[in-house]
Amino acid sequence: MTKDREVSITDYTPLVGEEKIEELLKFGEELKGLKLQQINSARFGGGVAEMLLSLIPLERSLGLDVSWDVIEGDQAFFTYTKTVHNFLQGKPGTLDLLGAKVYWDTNRRNYPLVNELADVVLVHDPQPAGLITFVPEEVRRRQKWLWRCHIQTSRDACLLMNPVRSLIELYDAAIYSSTRYCTWDIRPFIILPYIDPLSDKNRELTDAEIQAVLDRHGIGDLEEKPLITLVSRFDPFKGHAYAIDSFREVRKNHLCQLLMVGGTASDDPENELILAEIEEKINGLEDVRVLNLPPDSHVDINALQRASTIILQPSVKEGFGLTVTEGLWKGKPVIGGDTGGIPAQIADGYNGYLVTPGESSVPEMAERIAFLLENPVMAREKGRRGRETVRERFLITRGLWDELMLIKTVLQNS
Ligand code: UDP
Repeated sequence: MTKDREVSITDYTPLVGEEKIEELLKFGEELKGLKLQQINSARFGGGVAEMLLSLIPLERSLGLDVSWDVIEGDQAFFTYTKTVHNFLQGKPGTLDLLGAKVYWDTNRRNYPLVNELADVVLVHDPQPAGLITFVPEEVRRRQKWLWRCHIQTSRDACLLMNPVRSLIELYDAAIYSSTRYCTWDIRPFIILPYIDPLSDKNRELTDAEIQAVLDRHGIGDLEEKPLITLVSRFDPFKGHAYAIDSFREVRKNHLCQLLMVGGTASDDPENELILAEIEEKINGLEDVRVLNLPPDSHVDINALQRASTIILQPSVKEGFGLTVTEGLWKGKPVIGGDTGGIPAQIADGYNGYLVTPGESSVPEMAERIAFLLENPVMAREKGRRGRETVRERFLITRGLWDELMLIKTVLQNS
């Protein structure tokens, strides 16, 4: 278990104002001692772990008794759950019976992680969703089970049979990032994700800290060649190939460099394959780099985002897209795929640009990149607006408020 960052909710007062902090402290009083268990499938890597790492210390600091457990599985389990994940996002795949057996066996084996004394169990994404089926009835009667879906579940996924569908209806409530996603037959609660402005990923950095990171990775000439950055797991939905193709177009007329920063998440077995495809595609291309970083490279990613002139996130599917939020928070114009949670963050032309997801994004993105490079004052203004968008809507204090309010509501309705 990693040690909590020393944090107090009042540290956020200068960023969000006293009123919001007072409300959170009041919630803390009301829910003091509540036993909340959070369960997911990776302690590092990807957006879910990113949020839990920051949220849980804050919930504890407010007086809740929060535990965080991570289920364990082997390669076969995570390969199957990644197929389910892709399937739910609309990518056809075969959900084989053998994989389903591994899924149930793994969930059964992980059941001892469940704290039967918890008041509320909050399960994230499909991997541990099956745990609920092993809860003895008398325990289930006194616990609330909530399922948090971080995936952009396609409408088609609602119609298809899959292992998640039958499970979700066993939960007391399900939480999504948008009502436009498939929510199955359960009342959906919507909680938009958030970033922690005081975490290593997002805190202010000095120029010296940023320069040290750039030097360590051998990234230079930023004046001459502005940096365009995509931060993402190496995943088929993240749009790396489109970023490369649009960069190739832009590079014909503009000096600039493309950086693709990624890493592996322990619950995502596709990373290596996609990384190999990206490396093959950029072979021989000038001014393009891929950095494969360890999962705790928060300061490095923070510095690279801050050193960038433009952030790209041309996803084809995206549950929310914290990398978009992170880029906006750092005052950068972000060009993102018009899909999932990205349009909730980018207003086209206001704080960045939306591009049509898929192959069509290539010419659109190339045009937008060129425009931003040619018009640095407008680019900076869009970035400034992006930071305000995040301050108003996507900081952790709002996410914390939403989660505590949901818990209170679910407990009151029992
Ligand atoms: N991230 C990271 N290292 C990487 C790639 C991503 O720390 O190599 C972080 C990124 O900064 C963001 C999160 O992982 O905080 C990704 O969240 P997002 O919602 O964008 O996508 P997900 O990976 O959850 O699909």
